Amino acid sequence: MPSNRQDISHHPSPLSNLGEAGIIELVRSKSVTKNYPNVIHAIGDDCAVLKFTDKKDLLVTTDTMVKETHFTAQTLPADALGWKVLASNISDIAAMGGTPRTAFLSLGLNSKTTTDFLESFITALSDLAQKTNIALAGGDTVETPCGQTITLTLLGDCPRGKAIYRHKAQLDDDIWVSGRPGDAAGGLFILQEGLPSESAQHKTLVRAHQRPVPRVELGRALGKSGLVHAMIDISDGIAKDLGHICEQSRVGAILDETAIPITEDLRLLGDETGRNPMDWTLYGGEDYELLFTAPPAHRQALKAMVCQNSDIPIHRIGKIVSKPVFSLVGTEGTRDIGSHGYSHFSR
Ligand code: ADP
Ligand code: MG
Repeated sequence: MPSNRQDISHHPSPLSNLGEAGIIELVRSKSVTKNYPNVIHAIGDDCAVLKFTDKKDLLVTTDTMVKETHFTAQTLPADALGWKVLASNISDIAAMGGTPRTAFLSLGLNSKTTTDFLESFITALSDLAQKTNIALAGGDTVETPCGQTITLTLLGDCPRGKAIYRHKAQLDDDIWVSGRPGDAAGGLFILQEGLPSESAQHKTLVRAHQRPVPRVELGRALGKSGLVHAMIDISDGIAKDLGHICEQSRVGAILDETAIPITEDLRLLGDETGRNPMDWTLYGGEDYELLFTAPPAHRQALKAMVCQNSDIPIHRIGKIVSKPVFSLVGTEGTRDIGSHGYSHFSR
């Protein structure tokens, strides 16, 4: 006689056993993309790369922001949410060396969400879209039982065959990072701890968290230059995102602690709060800076090219070495970097 009782030997395994990376790997292992000639590169990079025209490849990325997971009313007011959901997707296009073009917006909203919220959200999103020449061309609107869930899908393009991938780093490559990594995590700390945000220093950090500026011109110039081997944008912290490059390129990395930029604003926040600012820079996230590798022979050309095309500085912070080294060399010796940074399903 059939029984409804579960086999007692079967212990359902929670998703936290897989973790975010394991879940993506499970999905990837079941997905078939080999027989689709229009797919140049599927799951695994900042964007999917698809065949488009004789001169261009199509780039596609999507990102979701969920209330209480990615933001709270305290950390991201409606306008910052609108800006950021688009900025994070633009950053993925920038990380491939591409140009963002067309967005699709899916709004999962609770019936208690106010019209003011929606107006602030969409005004800020449209502001960034206009600044970056992106057309909002469609989407979906649904009611959710709990907090807001916002998904944005962004299309872009790059010159044919010129997308920059995570898996192309080579031994001896220099590791570079743009701009002000760590500032966004410092800003998040200020917001979460409820520290006063009136000072110019705190305002700069909070702005880095709430209104990140994706590095489109820099990414495009790096892609076009042919000087770069591998690239990723920093959404989960230098350690974790460099970890993706290393894993996919089957290499290791050594970072020079003294070369990793810590802004004066972040250093001051560290002094005020007794925290080590390097932790925000290595393990914080949502910087939307670009992390890339390039052969040492290209150092001068890279610096000159970046100076000409962008006002964002780049910093040489380490070297690609053989696996399995993944370490940080500092004044107090060498230690393992670890690849912890933000990860879903890890708590
Ligand atoms: P990023 O931080 O650059 O947005 P993610 O870490 O979110 O990238 O995703 C890594 C890769 O896995 C991307 O190529 C993404 O498209 C893919 N991916 C993530 N979740 C899924 C999913 N549920 N189904 C298919 N692909 C996924
Ligand atoms: Mg990315």
